[in-house]
Parts: sequence; C-alpha cells; structure tokens
Amino acid sequence: MQTKDYLLKIIDDKQNVRVWLAHTSHLVEEAHRRHATSATASAALGRVLTAAVMMGSDLKGEQDLLSLRINGNGPAGTIIATADGHGNVKGFISEPQADLPSRYPGKLAVGELVGKEGFLEVIKDLGLKQPFVGKVPLVSGEIAEDLAQYLLLSEQIPALVSLGVLVGTDLHILAAGGLIVQALPGADDEILTVLENNILSLNHISELINTHETLEEIVPSIMQGVAYTIIGEQKLAFRCQCNRERLGIILAGLEEEELREAIEKNENIEAVCNFCQEVYSFSPQEIQVIQSKKP
Ligand SMILES: [Zn+2]
Repeated sequence: MQTKDYLLKIIDDKQNVRVWLAHTSHLVEEAHRRHATSATASAALGRVLTAAVMMGSDLKGEQDLLSLRINGNGPAGTIIATADGHGNVKGFISEPQADLPSRYPGKLAVGELVGKEGFLEVIKDLGLKQPFVGKVPLVSGEIAEDLAQYLLLSEQIPALVSLGVLVGTDLHILAAGGLIVQALPGADDEILTVLENNILSLNHISELINTHETLEEIVPSIMQGVAYTIIGEQKLAFRCQCNRERLGIILAGLEEEELREAIEKNENIEAVCNFCQEVYSFSPQEIQVIQSKKP
C-alpha cells in the first residue's frame, strides 16, 4: 500500500489532454471505518469520494465546494460526496450495510448496488446566490461511466474515467484510486486514441495502485508515446468540517416536543453527523439553551 493519498496533475507537452491520477486508499478506508460499509458499499462510496475529490481539485475559491449526488434506485440508496479545492472530501451512502454477491470473481457488483434508474448530479457551490447544478441520467451505476457521461453532456468535455476500489476479505481497503483523462479544447484525436489504448492495455486502476509504490511509477505506462509534464500534486484526505455548533443548529430543527421531553427526563440528546458519523452529545442544559434560541 502506498503511504499517502494524493493527486498528480499531468499535461501533455502539446496541451491536448490533462490527466488527473489519484491514490485514495486511506480516505476510502477512513470512510469504510466511519460508516461501517459492506464490501460493495465501500466500493461504491469509495468511487464517488474519489471522483468528487478529483473534480474538487479544479475549484478556485477558498470556500468553493463540489458535491456529487447519485441515486440509481438500487439497494445503496443515495450516495453523496462533497469535496473542497484543498483535497478534503467527506461523504456517505444511505444504506451502508447493503451488499450484493459479486457475479464475476474480483469484481464487486457496484452497478447493481447503485442501480441505474436515476441520476448523477454535480453541485458546485461557488459562493454565488445559486449553486450550479448539472444532472445526467445514469448509464450503468458503475460511477466512472456515469461521470464520463456527465462531463460529455453537461460540460462538453470528452473524457476517459476510471475509478476503482479493491476490498480485502476482511473488508479493509487494499487499494483505491482514480484516473480522469480530459481532452482540452482543440485536442488532437490521435493523442486521445494513444492514451485510450495505453489505458486499455493496463490493469484496472485499483490493481495498478495496489501493485505500485507511488503514482509516479504508474504515469509512464499511461503516457507511453506522449511527451508530458507533471504540473501539480495535491494531498487528499477524508475530512469533515462539522462541529458542535453546526450540529446544535440541526438539533434545534427537531420537534419542540422531543426537546422538551429530553429536558424533562434529564436526558442527553445525541446528534450524529451524516457525513462522518461523529456523535455530538448535548446535555439537558445545552438543549435548553438551543431551544431558547429557536425563532
Ligand atoms: Zn461530520
């Protein structure tokens, strides 16, 4: 296993394509640990987290956020991941225990768990009055194909997307990562074909991550026959910005009766953050303060 999660940004020297390559094993493991996901749910959530953090790296503003929301009407329910421009991502799957037997050895049934009767939404909160929302119907629920479809239809960017999570028999994450190749405006079709063939001849992204010490070792085989430069590197991590104050606001949204009951019974109320499962416990005294602040 590689020691750190990070993203490499690569551009070919003739500026036809940009290639984002990410290692996300640790942040997917963190998500698995926090949400107690089944093998297939880990893979589904892990792919969405990886996609979100890679796309989030394009955000320019300090406070900008990018979210991916997927619901394909399958047993997984809804999957949401939110990333900032600094390599931080958080996310959840509404049915973390849901699982399906895999039909092919070594391939988890992510598409079936997610389903394909629904949409992929990309929500960009750029600090404007309204967030930008792009929405496309799901192709397969396998996430990578769905994201490629979104980039093509919604942002007019031809792209190759590969996302992968390798889960061990003990449910721990062995490897996770992603590869996104985007054509730049006016790109030479030939280079795209070369890269596509390179990628097709390689192992799946999760296998590549699993069998190499660093991303830098993988790049030459992806870029074979194309002159390129690594233009950037970004650290990646699972990180949630929740705190007591924010959860207190959510608590204030509970029914009046529920709050009064807790105070009368002198019981604590626990609020759990959806994104990271952190539990915040509020004493009856604190609940009283929260209640008094209610409009
Ligand atoms: Zn949280």
